[in-house]
Amino acid sequence: AKDQGRNTWEWYAGESDPTTREQIELRRELQEALEHDQLLLYYQPLVDARSGKMKALEALVRWQHPTRGLLLPGNFISLAERTGQIIDLDHWVLWRACKDLNIINTGRREALSVAVNISPVHFRRNGFFDEVKQALEESGLKPERLELEVTEGLMMAGSEKSIELLQNIRNLGVRVAIDDFGTGFSSLSYLRQLPINTVKIDRSFIQDITSNRMNTAIVEGIITMAHHLGLEVVAEGVESPEQHKDLIQRRCDKLQGYYFSKPVPLAKLLELPQVLPEK
Ligand code: C2E
Ligand code: CA
Ligand code: CA
Ligand code: CA
Repeated sequence: AKDQGRNTWEWYAGESDPTTREQIELRRELQEALEHDQLLLYYQPLVDARSGKMKALEALVRWQHPTRGLLLPGNFISLAERTGQIIDLDHWVLWRACKDLNIINTGRREALSVAVNISPVHFRRNGFFDEVKQALEESGLKPERLELEVTEGLMMAGSEKSIELLQNIRNLGVRVAIDDFGTGFSSLSYLRQLPINTVKIDRSFIQDITSNRMNTAIVEGIITMAHHLGLEVVAEGVESPEQHKDLIQRRCDKLQGYYFSKPVPLAKLLELPQVLPEK
């Protein structure tokens, strides 16, 4: 048995490196997860900067793995993008989020919107537009309650075609946000050409906004320019009351981050107060 064990190990080691093996395994498991309902959505509130009132939610996918526990997107999204499984995954997220929002908004005085992350791989695929339309039709969610979060890299690459698709999506009434803004290479003036509603400033700029003058200047520049273009500005990764205060002063519209609430499962979300952070 000892010999056999060693041989097995040698065979594997000769065949492929462990990371590749692990990825093949993960890919198979992710397929199972998609088929057997092991994925779930957490929701993180976006609040109005001044009032702290909950206005919207970002849907963030989680994987309840049978043996490894609850996995974060960092463990499987890039793999899913490489294998193409992201298309099924994002489709499921879109559909689930639209349905969940009906539950969430039942009996709520002011209805919330939901933001869904769309991978560039998925966005560029033919049929994406129909998928969005269908999710809205099947769930009955008002289009203006849905916001799609895309990254700036996507816009740089696909240009003409991507902009046209964005415009079609906007024509449905669906909102579009540029996620992780500031981390890519696009210039602020480039925003002018995009049919978008919202700019989400990346967490890395918010982190040390009160101590790093460079980041303070960048954030200020983004907010000013975005407002001139009629865009809404969201800051993500707000963790402290100091950052909160600073971003109110800078006229940021909406805020998101652990200071207000971590991403939580649906049942927990329904228990959160209307105004955050909880006192
Ligand atoms: P993202 O779109 O930038 O989402 C924000 C991430 O920051 C989330 O991580 C969230 O939990 C985390 N976060 C929020 N507030 C704070 C804070 O105050 N401090 C810190 N340190 N972190 C905060 P998460 O849920 O692990 O998601 C990571 C990334 O995975 C997302 O980044 C997004 O790019 C991707 N992702 C998540 N769900 C989906 C999905 O359904 N589809 C696709 N294609 N990508 C997804
Ligand atoms: Ca996002
Ligand atoms: Ca982001
Ligand atoms: Ca990010």
